[in-house]
Amino acid sequence: MIATSMALIQHVCSAPLARAARPRFLAAVISSRNLSIRSSSSPPSPARASQADSHVLLGMSEQELQQVALDFGQQSFRGKQLHHLIYKRKVKEIQDFSQLPQAFRNDLEEAGWKVGRSPIHNTVTALDGTIKLLIKLEDNRLIETVGIPVEDSKGSVRLTACVSSQVGCPLRCSFCATGKGGFSRNLKRHEIVEQVLAIEELFKHRVTNVVFMGMGEPMLNLKSVLEAHQCLNKDVQIGQRMITISTVGVPNTIRKLASHKLQSTLAVSLHAPNQKLREAIVPSAKSYPLDAIMKDCKDYFLETSRRVSFEYALLVLVLLLASWSQ
Ligand code: SF4
Repeated sequence: MIATSMALIQHVCSAPLARAARPRFLAAVISSRNLSIRSSSSPPSPARASQADSHVLLGMSEQELQQVALDFGQQSFRGKQLHHLIYKRKVKEIQDFSQLPQAFRNDLEEAGWKVGRSPIHNTVTALDGTIKLLIKLEDNRLIETVGIPVEDSKGSVRLTACVSSQVGCPLRCSFCATGKGGFSRNLKRHEIVEQVLAIEELFKHRVTNVVFMGMGEPMLNLKSVLEAHQCLNKDVQIGQRMITISTVGVPNTIRKLASHKLQSTLAVSLHAPNQKLREAIVPSAKSYPLDAIMKDCKDYFLETSRRVSFEYALLVLVLLLASWSQ
């Protein structure tokens, strides 16, 4: 039941914004599951940030931010302040870092640094409070992310962020709107993290859970997903056990993920009860048979002691074909 539900989260999370019209169902799904000092005018060394995120502060650890401060001739405590401003106060513009000296702010901007937050292009709110956001990235590409609030019987709210890992998706599962739209590019570390911060800002509430079930196949962008996972855990302070990484199955990646020994759940989207049917709706299944996926899932469990969940999108045609073939 839980596994079935999770697939539908992915399907709904991957649907276009205009199709965010199944919120009650989505909420039910979620609730059933119990994310050298140098002169002040010298530019900082780009090597401090990973190449993909160079000159972007969001996504950096406290230690990395301290090094940025040192690179600008500041004392290391300025890096701690940067960390506080970015992750606790969620300040979006360098000029709004009012605790920092004006000269440091100017130096950062002149050297091309930015916080790395993007504007929200559009939102759709459902009756149950689920909000789907379109975020406009620096290159004008749009990504979707969904905030799903669920209130328990004691009145406390669990807020789940369903985040995208790619702009579009190259895997083209036959039932998926994102897959049909094609693939543009991988998201960078900060572009994944900022989705969570955007949801926190919109809901004025901490995100308690993160599921990598939005646009894209996380295993095809594993480097950025792992970097974002680390930032969400250590800097945004979301427990590893509250983060789920989903995949439709990409050869040799589950083992790679397992080697990092994360305490996060792996969710595998099966969508069909046998290899033949699966190949019909998930083109990538041809290169990664169910037997091999199951073996890798077993190894993931042995390596991490974390359970693996399996997801199904309940597609009527697939269910009919399955029953006819029996
Ligand atoms: S792997 Fe890509 S195409 Fe398949 S369901 Fe996920 S987002 Fe859609």
